[in-house]
Amino acid sequence: MTHVLHRKLGKTPPTVVHAEGLWLRDSEGRTYLDAVSGGAAVSAIGHGDPRVQAAIDAQLARVDFAHNSFFTNEPAEALADHLAERAPGGLSRVLYCSGGSEAMEAALKLARQIWIERGRPEKRTIIAREQSYHGGTLGALSIGGNKPRSMPFRPMLFDTRFIEPCYAYRYRHDGESEADYGARAAAALERMIQKEEADTVAAFVCEPVVGATLGCAPAAAGYLKRIREICDHHDILLIFDEVMCGAGRTGYTFACEEDAATPDILAMAKGLGGGYQPIGALLVHDRLVDTIVSGSGALLQGFTYMAHPVACAAALRVQQIMVEDGLLERVRDKGELLRRRLEATFGQHPHVGDIRGRGLFLGMELVEDRSTKAPFDPRLGIAARLKAVAMDEGLMVYPSGGTVDGTNGDHVLLAPAYTVSDEEIDEIVVRLSRSLNRTLAEAV
Ligand code: PLP
Repeated sequence: MTHVLHRKLGKTPPTVVHAEGLWLRDSEGRTYLDAVSGGAAVSAIGHGDPRVQAAIDAQLARVDFAHNSFFTNEPAEALADHLAERAPGGLSRVLYCSGGSEAMEAALKLARQIWIERGRPEKRTIIAREQSYHGGTLGALSIGGNKPRSMPFRPMLFDTRFIEPCYAYRYRHDGESEADYGARAAAALERMIQKEEADTVAAFVCEPVVGATLGCAPAAAGYLKRIREICDHHDILLIFDEVMCGAGRTGYTFACEEDAATPDILAMAKGLGGGYQPIGALLVHDRLVDTIVSGSGALLQGFTYMAHPVACAAALRVQQIMVEDGLLERVRDKGELLRRRLEATFGQHPHVGDIRGRGLFLGMELVEDRSTKAPFDPRLGIAARLKAVAMDEGLMVYPSGGTVDGTNGDHVLLAPAYTVSDEEIDEIVVRLSRSLNRTLAEAV
């Protein structure tokens, strides 16, 4: 019996004892090819990089911990400088925390504080999107559009307004250009603001590339720029959740760079520390900080471990390695190769409806019928079965499925480390193909 509460009670997962590059080994000696960066798009530079280990050791030998209300520390300052130098215009201030959910909680509280400081406390409604995921804490669940994850807690959550996601495979009309679709999808925000009255809306929040709930769905061309214009027009803060899609995953340090749209607040986590330490961060626009500086002068935020010296030292080294080793270019390169391999293997597969994504953040939508896009019966639990079969085949993939009352199908997400080799890409596709065919043979 294990004393650890694992997600599936009564079923203890294998014990991982070694991790190096894209390979993990369990206590039984079985090896696993990690096609999803530690299981959740985290281990961006691969496992076991001795340079990060050395940075952690060096930091531990100097300062293990000192609370941020007493001291700042060198790695926290250096990491903030590193991020601010690369961030889109004006996003130059950094608030640290320990992960993605905390980052989103901090973003919501910051948006609220801004409108209080500006003398407009009635601006408190958040608009978010259906089929989104922003974390498992109560504030983050309140703005999450993944109903299976939030429903049980609904009585404890605050009211959020939801618009449809930018999800071309399901919502783009036949013959509609991508730009036209992007504009039409963004118009849903305009309509919601009119309905709610802009004076009461504090912020709009979205993932530039949806990860956990849609198996990777990038914003259509022009969508985020139009969203930015709508928010500016109505004096509404714009929050981008780049917890999963940021930190180089799409081939850009910030996913929104590719869309030429800059939010007021940008949340990061996962690839920021690359799994070597738990860390998250908010990048905050100067003008928001100016509001507080000329108002109360104090942030209404605080977590014990914010700006943790060891977490910041690890994340700083991870981010430096991305630059030193040219990993962003590599993401674009290897992302293209992985996409080509997926298209060659699954492009005509009768149960693969769509292959999509950016950089090394790619997803496939699994459907019952490719021509009608009809999803599988959610009771079959295709995505979850695929995860289990893939583990049996020695491959780690990220499933999402049975989304929103099961009407939008099952997805599988691939997000390997940026260091993935050509041979590993081939092996990922071979093992995925075997796993998918086995899953379908067993389930359908
Ligand atoms: N936001 C997004 C887009 C995510 O994908 C996740 C986690 O998957 C979170 C927030 C929550 O992050 P964490 O699990 O680190 O709290």
